[in-house]
Amino acid sequence: MYVFDQSPLYQNVMAVLEDAGNVINLNRNALERLKRPKRTLVVSVPVRMDDDQIKVFMGYRVQHNQALGPFKGGLRFHPSVNLGEVAGLATLMTFKNSLLNLPLGGAKGGVEVDPTALSKSELEQLTRTFTREIALLIGQDHDIPAPDVGTDAQTMAWMLDAWSNHTGFNQTGVVTGKPVEVGGSKGRDSATGHGVVFIAEKALSVFQRDLKGASMAIQGFGKVGMHAAILAHRLGAKVVAVSDVSGAIYHPEGLNIPEVVQHIEENRILRGCPNAQVISHEELLGMDVDVLAPCALDGVITEDNYHIVKAKIIVEGANGPVTTKASEELTKKGCFIVPDILANGGGVVVSYFEWVQDIGWLFWNLDEVESKLKTIMHKSFDVVHGFSQEHGKSMRTSAMAVSLKRLEKAMKLRGQAW
Ligand code: NAD
Repeated sequence: MYVFDQSPLYQNVMAVLEDAGNVINLNRNALERLKRPKRTLVVSVPVRMDDDQIKVFMGYRVQHNQALGPFKGGLRFHPSVNLGEVAGLATLMTFKNSLLNLPLGGAKGGVEVDPTALSKSELEQLTRTFTREIALLIGQDHDIPAPDVGTDAQTMAWMLDAWSNHTGFNQTGVVTGKPVEVGGSKGRDSATGHGVVFIAEKALSVFQRDLKGASMAIQGFGKVGMHAAILAHRLGAKVVAVSDVSGAIYHPEGLNIPEVVQHIEENRILRGCPNAQVISHEELLGMDVDVLAPCALDGVITEDNYHIVKAKIIVEGANGPVTTKASEELTKKGCFIVPDILANGGGVVVSYFEWVQDIGWLFWNLDEVESKLKTIMHKSFDVVHGFSQEHGKSMRTSAMAVSLKRLEKAMKLRGQAW
């Protein structure tokens, strides 16, 4: 047993890999290699705190597989970060990038720290020191980090600067998710949320329904949920309910989303939003809507509460919001679930666009980014749905199967699984 195997997330990823591997009869040698990351780096990150004491944090970068291209995956700053979790998330990135047909491998990193407990200067120092420590692994053609939980565009700007100072030259493609002023892409902020809506559109079309007029409930009003709500509303869907950590709100005819966004900009939380009825978190999950998009947390629909769900379609904007067991039970009841690996892939797609723009030093306008994002999301949906129809498998199993088939082919061609 290796240290990764003690992580529940890593164990779960391995179970998913074994299951989908069985469905496509994955080459045993490819399976063996995919079970272990290619490379891991563990670093200590000393920070001189504002009170002059030195505190040492642990940081990780895990590179899982590069059969399809340079390693790519986010960086998480969170107290629960550990090597096993990072290794599991790196493995998932390999699967996600393959599913979306991006020329990228999978990686992930993080620091075991609560960023909200640090001052801005402590956080900047932590980011710069961590960047220097992992500089031997990252680079535009090697491994390209991006934001994840607890990191944002500012973190990426500091990383770009620290990496450039360390190596002696400027290469904006070393990280993605940067502010547009320093080589970021237009449309990166809204990419994951918009991807969720493009996927909802396709899922509805399976039932001969249009997004226009369809009812939606969205859990979470952060980077993913808010942008999903804005676009869905703009395209004519009735967003009847949304929620955040402060509560959930409802309007039977559809919420006025621009008004909700304005309320959030002024108050930071949904509580107190005018022209809406307050409902409970459970009521939102149990709403009789065409599309339920959980875009907040993992594990919100479980064995214990799946029976309250009435939505015809679930689009997993968050990572892992429906547990494996709940997913099986809901699928039996006829609920159509689009898994996270597909549904929330819009973020990494536009990260890929950002990397391409940085390499070419030529930047696209927003329409170009959006239309290319929509094309990739729709096409990825069609491929997964096609597999699901042909083999009688759920969308979740089919997404993994499509991803593994591509990986297996690349690994065989490169001689990684013979
Ligand atoms: P975020 O922190 O910007 O937003 C999270 C939202 O969820 C906030 O509105 C918060 O108030 C709300 N929330 C927290 N607890 C809640 C609860 N109990 N009930 C209802 N709402 C609650 O985070 P985000 O970037 O929007 O990420 C959300 C999910 O999407 C995470 O699972 C993340 O891993 C996943 N994801 C994000 C991206 C991205 O590009 N941001 C990409 C892929 C996946």
